[in-house]
Amino acid sequence: MNLSTSVEEIPHVGPAYQRRLKKLNIKTVGQLIFHFPHRYEDFSNLILISQAEEGGPFSVQGKITDIKTFRAFRRKMMLTQATVEDETGKIKALWFNQPYLINTLKKGTFVCLAGKVKGKKSSKYFSSPAYERIPSNYKEVDFELNHTGGLIPIYPETEGLSSKWLRFIVKPILTELGNKIEDSLPSKISQKYNFLPFQKAIWQIHFPDSLKDAEEAKKRFSFEELFQLALFVLRERMKLAKETAPAIPLDVGLMKEFTESLPYKLTDAQKKSAWQILKDLERPRPMNRLLEGDVGSGKTVVAAMAALNATKSGYQVALLAPTEILAKQHFKTINNLLEKFDINVGLITGKESYYKNQKIERKKLLENVKDGKTNILIGTHAIIQDTDPETPKKTPVQFNNLAFVIIDEQHRFGVEQRAKLITNSYKLKTAQKTIPHFLSMTATPIPRTLSLTIYGDLDLSIIDELPKGRKKIITKIIQPKDKKATYEFIRQQVKEGRQAFVICPRIEPPKASPENLERGLFDERALSWMDVKAVKQEYKKMAEEIFPDLKVGMLHGKMKTQEKENVMTEFKEKIIDVLVSTSVVEVGVDIPNATVMMIEGSEKFGLAQLHQFRGRVGRSDFQSYCFLFTDTEGFIYNRRLKALITCDNGFELAEKDLQIRGPGDFTGQRQWGIPDLAMASLTDTILVSKARNDAKELLEEDPELKNYPLLREKIKEYKTRIHLE
Ligand code: ADP
Ligand code: MG
Repeated sequence: MNLSTSVEEIPHVGPAYQRRLKKLNIKTVGQLIFHFPHRYEDFSNLILISQAEEGGPFSVQGKITDIKTFRAFRRKMMLTQATVEDETGKIKALWFNQPYLINTLKKGTFVCLAGKVKGKKSSKYFSSPAYERIPSNYKEVDFELNHTGGLIPIYPETEGLSSKWLRFIVKPILTELGNKIEDSLPSKISQKYNFLPFQKAIWQIHFPDSLKDAEEAKKRFSFEELFQLALFVLRERMKLAKETAPAIPLDVGLMKEFTESLPYKLTDAQKKSAWQILKDLERPRPMNRLLEGDVGSGKTVVAAMAALNATKSGYQVALLAPTEILAKQHFKTINNLLEKFDINVGLITGKESYYKNQKIERKKLLENVKDGKTNILIGTHAIIQDTDPETPKKTPVQFNNLAFVIIDEQHRFGVEQRAKLITNSYKLKTAQKTIPHFLSMTATPIPRTLSLTIYGDLDLSIIDELPKGRKKIITKIIQPKDKKATYEFIRQQVKEGRQAFVICPRIEPPKASPENLERGLFDERALSWMDVKAVKQEYKKMAEEIFPDLKVGMLHGKMKTQEKENVMTEFKEKIIDVLVSTSVVEVGVDIPNATVMMIEGSEKFGLAQLHQFRGRVGRSDFQSYCFLFTDTEGFIYNRRLKALITCDNGFELAEKDLQIRGPGDFTGQRQWGIPDLAMASLTDTILVSKARNDAKELLEEDPELKNYPLLREKIKEYKTRIHLE
């Protein structure tokens, strides 16, 4: 057994447990032992039964003299009650809904119980204590307590996979492997910070002798994860910095002409971002920049400006959108923005192709792209992949001299895809020996500490102000009793000519019970079908009961592209008044006439996502509203929701979300694939910067990590797990 051994090979880990472990991202022994406890239960206070008093936690040891299971009076609950005796007295223990205990803790067995004691005097009892069997001659022999003595690790769990089970599995592995695992942290760094040696630390983080030891071990591993993350990010950057890209001269006159042609004035933030991008493009190194800005902050025009500058230098530009609808919308917008500048814009989707506002055969368009006639090509990101998964038989797009790739709203645009893009663009390039500049655009705000860590000094442009004249969106939490009045309000808005979005509550995943796991209820497909069911129900309710007098439409992720497109077009053209939709559908679609965003079951969404929904309205001069429906009593006092009402800046909200919920719960942790401890340490800015500095120093001394093969291997793993925006 070693760190890369699959969990399948661990004794006692059958298919059901393998699946549960997979839910925690654990597939190998290495991942299992790096699944660290997030806290410890202190069961070190071993007392005699006569000393037990309300409070605790305490541990006692003794013999079970009685045990029975019965149904609680008038409640649908099974109670198991045991009596445990030592030489000083007896005490009861009570467990809820664990009738099987009666088979494990038979009368006459000796046990150690640990937990809180409730009740006074003769009615004292242990409430749902942890338990484990001990030898009958426990007074005379030495034995090891794994669950009821000392500091007991509590792990992040998933249903059907308890901390108790994890302890049971992890301990023998550590006993076998603990001393054989080599430390990947360079020893001079360990020495510098006086870290515990790896072998000791890995043991102490799981089964600590004292909380102080646990804390020290945790500090070491937090640093290690941050350090590896920093190494990974810096190395990716170094690789990219070695590449060359076409230097695109900045035509200031042209840019002035462009901004003067706009029907509005650019905001200062837009100007600053555009300037940063244009300056980057002038360099012969590939730009790798992220343009972050709230929904509606006007990222498209900034991208269009840079694209115009590139095309006028004779280069081609690709603009990739996550969906066909958005690609089409961009095509229209870019065509409008660049109308006066004699630019040939093409659109390519799975089914249609356009060239300069006209339909064109796909083959013909591809020729125009290949010979350089098309200056800007817009499409889904399939256009730059080897083969288009939607249309695998069609020939891939070949450019003449692609110099600039813009990627819009690609939330999971990871390092891998970026690398793939780069390799592909090598294949694509014909005339020049360079790779294109990259600009990703996103409306997902990332807290600053997080972006510092995952992007390092990756270039970041932020549009942190909305165009002038936008009205603040009025946000309200709607309690059940106010629903009716709100529907009436929405009806009124529609009567005045406006439109409304209704977002359906996200479906809670079913409980991860062993049966449900067996039934495969957890794959993404099953879940998204449940979402579809919810949206259909909601649609029915809206169309038949609540707004029978209005035209209600429905949109969900399982509809065919063409169907979705038709519905969106109908909404855009005001044939539909109220659009009921799942949360998965198209974030960037622009419907300026929509003024109401109504979210059912809003408590089920994260702050960042609610903010995104809200951003779909308020794109015009009309006053817009965001109604957060809730079924939870007292939800109006929820801190997170309050933040949403008082704050309309996505970056501030992301920061607040991080503070309120803690980094561990921050939406997107799984999405980004950041290790747990690194994530939890993000608020420790000093540790973050120490790790970064050490990573920098090490790379200066040994850029290829030739002397640190173990570390190099570790960093490689990051490539498959980290998904940077
Ligand atoms: P996003 O950043 O969400 O992609 P868009 O680029 O779609 O935002 O812009 C949203 C809307 O704001 C568009 O209709 C666009 O024309 C408009 N817009 C962009 N910049 C400005 C500005 N400086 N002043 C006024 N309106 C603007
Ligand atoms: Mg956009």
